[in-house]
Formats: sequence, C-alpha cells, structure tokens
Amino acid sequence: MSKSSKCESQRCDEAKSLPISRHRDALVRAVEDHVFLVVTGETGSGKTTQLPQYLYRAGLWKAGNIGITQPRRVAAITVAQRVSHEMRFTLGKEVGYQVRFDDCTSEATVVKYMTDGCLLREILADPLLSKYSIVILDEAHERSLNTDILLGLLKKTLCGVDKGSEGRSVPLHVVVMSATLETDKLSTFLGGCPVFTIPGRTFPVTSSFGSAIGPKDVNGSSYVNEVVRVALNVHSGELAGDILVFLTGQSEIEKACDLLYEKAERIDYRYDVQDQTVEGLLILPLYGSMPTDQQRQIFLAPPTGIRKCVVATNIAATSLTIDGIKYIVDSGFVKQLNHNSRVGMDILEVVPISKSEAQQRAGRAGRTSAGKCFRIYSNEFWEKCMLEYTVPEIQRTSLTAVVLTLKCLGVHDVIGFPYLDRPEERLILEALKQLYQFDAIDRRGRVTRLGELMVEFPLHPGLTRALLKAASFGCEDLLLPLAAMLSVENIFIRPGHPEKQKEADKKHRRLAAKAGGMNDFATLLSVFQWCKDSDSPSAWCKENWVHWRALKSAFSIETQLCEILLRLKQKRDFPVEVFTGNKSELFRRCLCTGYFTNVARRSVGKTFSTMDGHGTAVHVHPSSSLFEHEAELDWLIFHDMMVTSRVYLRTVCPIRYEWVKELLPKLHQVDVYELSNIAREEVDEEEVAKSESKEAKRLTEGSDKDVA
Ligand code: ADP
Ligand code: MG
Repeated sequence: MSKSSKCESQRCDEAKSLPISRHRDALVRAVEDHVFLVVTGETGSGKTTQLPQYLYRAGLWKAGNIGITQPRRVAAITVAQRVSHEMRFTLGKEVGYQVRFDDCTSEATVVKYMTDGCLLREILADPLLSKYSIVILDEAHERSLNTDILLGLLKKTLCGVDKGSEGRSVPLHVVVMSATLETDKLSTFLGGCPVFTIPGRTFPVTSSFGSAIGPKDVNGSSYVNEVVRVALNVHSGELAGDILVFLTGQSEIEKACDLLYEKAERIDYRYDVQDQTVEGLLILPLYGSMPTDQQRQIFLAPPTGIRKCVVATNIAATSLTIDGIKYIVDSGFVKQLNHNSRVGMDILEVVPISKSEAQQRAGRAGRTSAGKCFRIYSNEFWEKCMLEYTVPEIQRTSLTAVVLTLKCLGVHDVIGFPYLDRPEERLILEALKQLYQFDAIDRRGRVTRLGELMVEFPLHPGLTRALLKAASFGCEDLLLPLAAMLSVENIFIRPGHPEKQKEADKKHRRLAAKAGGMNDFATLLSVFQWCKDSDSPSAWCKENWVHWRALKSAFSIETQLCEILLRLKQKRDFPVEVFTGNKSELFRRCLCTGYFTNVARRSVGKTFSTMDGHGTAVHVHPSSSLFEHEAELDWLIFHDMMVTSRVYLRTVCPIRYEWVKELLPKLHQVDVYELSNIAREEVDEEEVAKSESKEAKRLTEGSDKDVA
C-alpha cells in the first residue's frame, strides 16, 4: 500500500471516531422533527463532512436533495471532494458541488455542496426550493452576506411571515450550523428553534504575545517577515507537531513560503523523501484560488520526522480543519471587503482580526493535544486595535447585488426585511441609489426589465450594465471576455525575485503597448484573445508572465456568461441599439454605462478627483499602463481602488467627458428617500403599472440620447 493511500484509509476510520458520530441517530431525528434546527459544535467535530452523510444514509434524499452551503468556494469544493471520497462515490455523481462559474453536479447529484451565493441564485429561479428536502446553512457564525440573506429569506418563507411551504409536496427542513458562537441568537431569530450541541473535546492552548507588531502597525506592515521568523523559531525550538501560520492573502503567503524555503533546511517537498531522518520542514501554502489538487496535499500527514507548516488565509480558521496542528503563528490580520466611506466604494483591505477571531485561530492548535499559539502582535495591539467580535459582512459591504436579488424575489420592503443584524439604513439607501443609477429599479423602487436581466449575471451590477449595453449594440464579444477577465484573480504574475520581476514588468508593458496602450481594460481583452488564439496557450502565458490557470478560468467564465446572455436573448425581448463609431470608442462607451459611478477627472499634476460626490483625491496605480501618462489625461474610468496612505486607481481607461455628461447628473439627482419610502409602502399595482410605462418611456428616451 502506498503511503498516501494508507493515510486515506486511516482517515476514513477516523471519521467514525469524530465527536459527532455518537450523536448520529439523535441528529437525524432532530432534523426530521423540526423545520429549523441549529447545530453547533467545535470546529473539526464533523458537522460539515458527516451530517450530510448521515442524512443521506437515513434515506432522506429520497424526498429531495440535500443542499449544504458554504461561505467560501474552496470549502465547498474541498469538502465535496472529501465527502464523495469517504462515501466512495465519484465526485459530481451522488455528491457534487457548485460554486460560481464551476458546476460539478449531474442528474444523479443528491448531496450538493455549494456556496451560499449559488443557493441564493437557485432561490431566484425556484423560490420554494422544490428540489430540496433539506437545506443546511453551514458556517453561519462567519456571518457572510449571502448566508445572512438566506437566513432572512428562509425565515420569511418558513416561519409564517409568508405562506409557509404551501406549494411544496414535502416540507423543507433547514439546518443552521455554527461554531459555538451566537447559537442563542440564531435560535431566537428562527422562532426559538432547538439547538443541538455536539460536545467537543478540546485541549488547552497557551497563547503568548509578541512585541514586533504594535498599535502603530495597525495598517499592516512587515508582519510577513516576523511571521516567518517566529515559525522558524517554533521549528527549531519546539517538540514535534505541525505549524499553522495565518496570513491574509495569496501574494504574501507565497512570499512567506519563499522566505521559509530559503531559510529552512532544504528537503524534498513531495512525499518521496529519501532521507527521512532529516528534521525538515514541509512548507505548504493554502489560499482560495489555489488549484484543488494542491489543496488536497494539506490534509495528508507529513512523512515521519518531517514537520508540516501550512501557511494559510483565514480559510483554515473554521472552514477547513487540518489534523495534527499543534502550533499556531497568528499574524493578527485578515483581508476583508469593507465599504470605505472615504471613497464610497467596497475595498479589499488588510485589517486587524477581532479578539474572537484570534481565539478561534488559537483553538486550532488544541484539537488533538495541548497546543501553543504565538501571536506576533503585542498585548497593547490586542487591547487597542482589535474589536471584540468581527462585524458581520452585511454591516460593512455594498448591498447593491443583494438588494436587487431581494427585489427580484418580490421582497419589496428591503428595509423591513428580517435581518439577523440590521445593516445601517445608509447602506441600503446606497444600494437603492446604485440600482436606480444603473436603471435596474425605477423611481418607485421597482425592478425594471433591465434589472430582471441584470440579476441573471453573477457579476458586479456595473459590469453587468456595461455588458448589457454592449449586447444591445451587438458587440458583446468585447465585453464578455473583459467581464471574464475581471472575474478572475491575478492575471499577471508578479515574481518575488527582483530580477525576474523586472523581466515580468517588461513583458507586461509590452503587452499593454501592443494592445494599443493607455487602456487597461483593452489590455485585458487583448490578453484574452491572444492567449486564446495562440497555438499553445499555456506556453504563451509562460512566455508573457501570465497566469495560465487564471486564463483558463477566464475562458470557461466567458463561455458561461455567453450562455446566460444567449438564454436571455432567446427568452426576453432584448433592447437593440445602433452605433456608428469606431470599435475603441464603442468599447469605452459601453464601459461608461456601467462605470460612470467610477469616474475621475484630473485636478492638478498627477492627481485626479472622483466625481461621485466624495471628490476623493486619487492617483493612477503604478501597475496601470496610464501611469506616468497622467498629464496627457483629463477624464477616466476605473475598475477598482486600492487604499494605502494614498488612494490608487487600478484598471483604468481614458474617456471623453461627452460620454458621461448625461450620466453624471444621475450620481447626484437621486432622491434616495423617495426610493426607500416607496420600498416600505404596500404596492399599489395600478399605480405601478402606470409609472412603469412612464419609466419605460423615460428609459428609451435616455438610451436614444446615449446613442447620439
Ligand atoms: P466541522 O464542520 O465540525 O468543523 P469537519 O466535518 O469539517 O468538521 O471536519 C471533520 C474532520 O474531517 C476533521 O478531522 C478534518 O480534518 C477532516 N477533514 C475534513 N475535510 C477533509 C479533507 N478534505 N481531507 C481530509 N480530511 C478532512
Ligand atoms: Mg464545518
């Protein structure tokens, strides 16, 4: 038996000895007996991987599918792999997964792991979830935006606010799973439903503070070096046991791994280690966009005498449990999408974790024996910079897409919706305003025909708006690849080595120039086309320092977006417009329709100012092809921002004022209170019909002007 398959069968036996296994029958009964059930237990007790199997074996799938949601796509994929393996099924048959742009299910699938966003989309098409007998909302303690919305929606349909499960042949059972936190609150929210607690067994973890990171480093500084130093100290100074290092994202994880490789004793990083007596370190990165076969390695036990060191994002805090971890090195930071009120946009930021998050991280060291957690930050940092609890995503990010989904589901009163934690009204109003600006809702807050088209695309509403504009001109071939490219991470490789970095930069500059220069959107579009058309796309990527895996995903996403568009074009009467100009202008004009909320104008020197009312002073990011050409520019649109001590614009394209002239007033002339008051009123159907026909007229007038 090979080493790895021996480990595999061992792990299947371990499944039987997980804390959850003794409660198997009681759990199945509890699910059957209640509409809502909260299940809680320490991370690693077997909730995610085992409960769906129990329900399957009890035959509950015969009444309808068993769906399990995860806030993170990697978790959905990895867990589905694991469970299909444990059940000895082929992945994609009885057990499958679906995440945005990746559907691994078939007719035969009855146990389906998916992201919470996917289930939300399924509700759009099938509000009663008639295909399911059981829906499990997993990782509810993470408080992801989509899980929170699902909680509210299911409460609304099943707790009698609406008509209940009328129209369904069998009742739906909802299980909400959460690590120990907040279960009373969840139960109260769900009408006082029972809470099933799986008693855990955990061992003490001693935590210590460091001195390298203090309150002055709150904006995230050189914590990578410190984390590496501490991890190496653990390796050389502590008894056997694996290490789990928490960092925030791909690039710094790769950097940390590089530093560790450099400094740690070199061993063969695969499992065919020749000299097993070497006390070595097996260094394994773990982040969301990593290939799944590499992720699988994380779970394998290291060879005898070798210490495993996993360098991970927050994904290893609760979603994935790695056995054998005895030491934690905690950077104290996490990457989070936050609505930034200074610039009025959602920005991916590195911020200090909360104290409860830090405790959760530390707890990962105490699963099988006593452990140690090394916090690289000081006690003062803990006191002054860390909140008690993590703020739920619904209270800190843009609600635009979610509000559109709710409205399409007939939830007109988005302010009175049953939220587990209410978002600030300001965020709801902001979402309504954006939807109105994109013509997705009308003045009365009702979804327009365009809005119904927009909700079908799993993209940012602005990008969808631009795509639909292009489709109405019959030039979707320009926007589909772009939308796909903007939906994947890290197209361009940024090597850590300075010499290689120079070489990569040179290649990237050459690509931008060849694409016409001075338009980052066009560069992305061209890279997509060149790669696709080349004889050997992977060699082309290597040659140009482009991530082949990212491009492969982009190809697949483009196909899927194209399918959605075709389906919509067949199903609904699609707007048609004519344009008589050159292709570059057409491209940029379509972009303006979706990105006029992201317009900046040059003020002085190299400084630009945003036009959304915030008037933020911004700069072009050095990675842009427009960098150092600022003086030649006047107006531009951008895809996103990066906030450090300065605010930088990334993925930028110059435009002409005339193209946004008629759109810009929309940024200011919206009466958000009108939108939201209407949202709260009972809907008078007749009135709505009247205003809709007026609205339709206004919209067609608007689009005529657009073409002119
Ligand atoms: P919970 O959901 O309660 O946190 P899980 O069901 O995720 O617990 O984990 C139960 C056990 O299964 C853990 O010991 C974990 O290490 C193991 N496990 C989970 N996923 C995998 C995987 N992909 N490969 C190997 N082991 C796994
Ligand atoms: Mg779990």
